[in-house]
Amino acid sequence: MSEDENFDRIVALARATNPFYAEWLEGRECPPLLTRRVVLENNDRILNGHPVTGRTSGSLGIPVRISMSPRRLALLRSISWRYVQWLGGPLIRSHIMASRGRNGDFELNVNSPIDQQIEWLIQRYEKAKAVALVTHPTNAFMLARAILECKIDMGFLQRVGVIGENFDFHQRAYIQSAFPNAFIWSTYSSIETGMISGQCPYEPAFHHIMADCLRVEILDDDDRECPEGEIGRVVITDYHNEWAPLIRYELGDLAVRGSCPCGRIPFPAFSSVIGKVRGALKHRSGQRVIFVDLSIALRDLPGMKQYQVVQEELERFTVRLVMDERREEEIAAAFEAHFGYRPQLTFEYHDFLPREPSGKYHHSICRV
Ligand SMILES: [Zn+2]
Repeated sequence: MSEDENFDRIVALARATNPFYAEWLEGRECPPLLTRRVVLENNDRILNGHPVTGRTSGSLGIPVRISMSPRRLALLRSISWRYVQWLGGPLIRSHIMASRGRNGDFELNVNSPIDQQIEWLIQRYEKAKAVALVTHPTNAFMLARAILECKIDMGFLQRVGVIGENFDFHQRAYIQSAFPNAFIWSTYSSIETGMISGQCPYEPAFHHIMADCLRVEILDDDDRECPEGEIGRVVITDYHNEWAPLIRYELGDLAVRGSCPCGRIPFPAFSSVIGKVRGALKHRSGQRVIFVDLSIALRDLPGMKQYQVVQEELERFTVRLVMDERREEEIAAAFEAHFGYRPQLTFEYHDFLPREPSGKYHHSICRV
């Protein structure tokens, strides 16, 4: 099916089967842009009685609930598998990620101390011949720093994948120096749509878009398609999510379209993906701590629309909030659970929390 046929098919299906889209698309030839706010306001109608299979932290702190059919979930897995094939096939791997309740031997929680992570990776190689690592960029960066500082030999790692966050070239070079024999790869994905693009294995500066599954538009401030090389807003249509369609959905990320010169992968490409980042805050011991767990605790508070945590000093934070009610005691308790002590918190309430001038949104900003 061509791009237009795929697009027309899901639009027609949504119009016919989904109560939200029946109204949203009525009398409109071209589906309008769908913002997170609109999705949030109509989330139940978009779900249309289907079970929730995922929820986002949201780049703007607004959690969106999504639903994918077993067929769509199978497609998600086959796209991941295809990407592994691009990289040269599967290797025995170790994951250092946010805990998802699975405690397989190959997985370690990303909140584990860095020296413990390094020890675990070495053990995984010795015991299970694990030669690939998958983690978040911010964590890979912290690992690289410790490895370089302590001059640890990690030459056994053949592949290091960094996922779930924005990842720039500065980080890539640094991580490469800590893992000299590893191919460093990254993917760009969202909870709502799964993998959107994967770094080209031949031209690492480019990401190929999974264009057989998703339509990706890159739009300027006037909602016109950006030419190659210009930064624009990422707008996605999922061709295959029939349970809870997302049509011309504005993800809240920025990217740049480009032409990959590899000539080997028949999909369009990004020359840059600029997006969400997870910030690493500092414990009063001086150790950097990943924000994920605290972020999830804040995200899940009732009434939470947006949040941003700014670490002004080691034990002093500003907590910026867009929420309907005050839950300061619960937030303080979440901080205590995260750090093991209660830092000083100043609460600020806002109508909206904007992006940085770079286009990035930081749930956490560390000024220490
Ligand atoms: Zn390529």
